[in-house]
Amino acid sequence: MNSVAASCVQPRRLSEIAFHGEADSDYLKWFAEGIGQRMEAAGHERVDSEESPGLVIHFVDPGRPRPFRRKSQGTFVVGVTEVDEKPDDILSTAYPMLVKSLSNLFIFITPSDDGGKDTYFITLEQGYYTARDRDGAEYFEEVYSHVAPLASTRLVINNIFRDDLPEELRDGNARTRAIYDAGRKLDGMGLLPTAFPIHEILSERDMQHVRRLFGLGGLSYGNVSVREDEDTFWMSARGVDKSNLREVGRDVLLISDYVPEEDAMVVRVPPGVEPRSASVDAIEHWNLYKEHPEIGAIIHIHAWMEGIESTRVNYPCGTYELAQEVAELARQQPDPGRAVVGLKNHGLTITGHSLEDIFERIDGKIIRQVPMEP
Ligand SMILES: [Zn+2]
Repeated sequence: MNSVAASCVQPRRLSEIAFHGEADSDYLKWFAEGIGQRMEAAGHERVDSEESPGLVIHFVDPGRPRPFRRKSQGTFVVGVTEVDEKPDDILSTAYPMLVKSLSNLFIFITPSDDGGKDTYFITLEQGYYTARDRDGAEYFEEVYSHVAPLASTRLVINNIFRDDLPEELRDGNARTRAIYDAGRKLDGMGLLPTAFPIHEILSERDMQHVRRLFGLGGLSYGNVSVREDEDTFWMSARGVDKSNLREVGRDVLLISDYVPEEDAMVVRVPPGVEPRSASVDAIEHWNLYKEHPEIGAIIHIHAWMEGIESTRVNYPCGTYELAQEVAELARQQPDPGRAVVGLKNHGLTITGHSLEDIFERIDGKIIRQVPMEP
């Protein structure tokens, strides 16, 4: 049953790119030129940052990180900064800069011990990896390999809401209650790390920007879904407290279709409810349910397990490309209905016949820290 996967295969798109902010040191000027040339060589066209490019390389003042204000949620931002001294703790210094500059990926450049430079790539998941200081062409090859997944992807994070959820489902059912129980259980297992308190470091204006673009009030982690019937499934909504998934139409949503022309998921909600957005990972779950009728439930957590197959490219959540890679890895497993797929530098997507089936299989095997690799 590959019809859906096949019908929505679309060519990879190369984003238009733009530069924003001041590359105000010799090193940053060299960096801007090098990465710009590498991206143009790959076929990316350079445009003005006002033109809603797919990717913006945004130079950030480390003392005063300011956001690049996207006009469209389809714009990815790679923040870049250089500091004069290497901090003891890279992440606690650089992660707030990623958040304050509203970047999807943050490139943090420090002096290295041998007089060169070290380049750290800080991810939204609060991890990082390092590029070695090498000769120019190799270095920009490596930098581009980390930026490219953001510069050739399509986000499927639009929603089409239909307020026609059948009456008997409006207060939920055994499946939505199973999702509620799973959320409590994940919380009990310590697998719902406290959402990063972005409201504490962003101004009210920037928070409004984040809410408008992404519909979230904090970076929340993981998600849970359960199949309702052949074509639909219930899933935890975007940016909600996963330890309290109670209200249908707000905390738990019935995902009922995917409209590729609009990069949108269709959500059926009760009338009169102001719905939350679908999880950015809904497209990934959609593909899995469509292709494998034996999948009854899916859990995604930011944790790891020993000996699993993992995606090669760290595509952003909510992209068509990530969903395709996860589908491919599930397909290759002996039993796609009971698969564990690693999402590089990010976490796990686990399929099962039911949520209990998943919990039984992961019991005692979860590694909290996701390994970070270049
Ligand atoms: Zn995730």
